[in-house]
Amino acid sequence: MPENALKQKLALVLQKIERARISYSRHQIVRLIAVSKYSDTEAISELYACGQRAFGESRVQDLAAKKSALPFPLEWHFIGNLQKNKINALLDLNVFLIHSVGSFALAEEINARCMAKNRVQKILLQINSAPQENPEKNGVHFDEAQEIYRQILKNCKNLRVLGVMSMGAASSDPREISQAFARTKAVFDALSGDGAEILSMGMSRDYELAIAHGANMIRVGSEIFRQFF
Ligand SMILES: *Cc1c(COP(=O)(O)O)cnc(C)c1O
Repeated sequence: MPENALKQKLALVLQKIERARISYSRHQIVRLIAVSKYSDTEAISELYACGQRAFGESRVQDLAAKKSALPFPLEWHFIGNLQKNKINALLDLNVFLIHSVGSFALAEEINARCMAKNRVQKILLQINSAPQENPEKNGVHFDEAQEIYRQILKNCKNLRVLGVMSMGAASSDPREISQAFARTKAVFDALSGDGAEILSMGMSRDYELAIAHGANMIRVGSEIFRQFF
């Protein structure tokens, strides 16, 4: 990409976040996770120079490679499908937050590995908020999310469950996307007494809408890193 292009894209995204945030609430704080999965360490370094510190990856191998190639520490977020045989490798990378814990069984697995390593891992419960539109997608059904969240809290003492994540709806209809975000927000609100602080939703195509529905963490890849978005 031409010099400064990344910086300009980041600035534009930050501007749009700010506008959406202010119209939702002046008191709302929204954190941007720059999803670097389409990108290389050079681009990450450029964004680092602009002040961006939180980056998201969806594959354990890619995260490991980028982390070890970069000379400065970053706040890494794991957002992808996590296979059981990759849990140990992921834990050893000391990621800040795993967004994509989409079942009680996976939470139990991660918890067991954490116990063996005598450590605690911060996670989010991934919710499928539009099962009609994306039946194959990762995540617990929104109707069961509260119960499973509390089950994890009760049984997985080496996990710190900090909130929920959703991909929204794989639809181009804004009403369907809005409905999915509203469902996720309702689950998040119902869990506020159980320590839920993070509502991770919104990607390149829909993060302004997600912020309008109360998202306080968004995951943006393409709009920052892809030349033609
Ligand atoms: C790739 C990915 C993103 C970023 O998507 P863009 O549309 O490129 O912004 C966000 N969240 C998850 C879980 C992803 O896999």
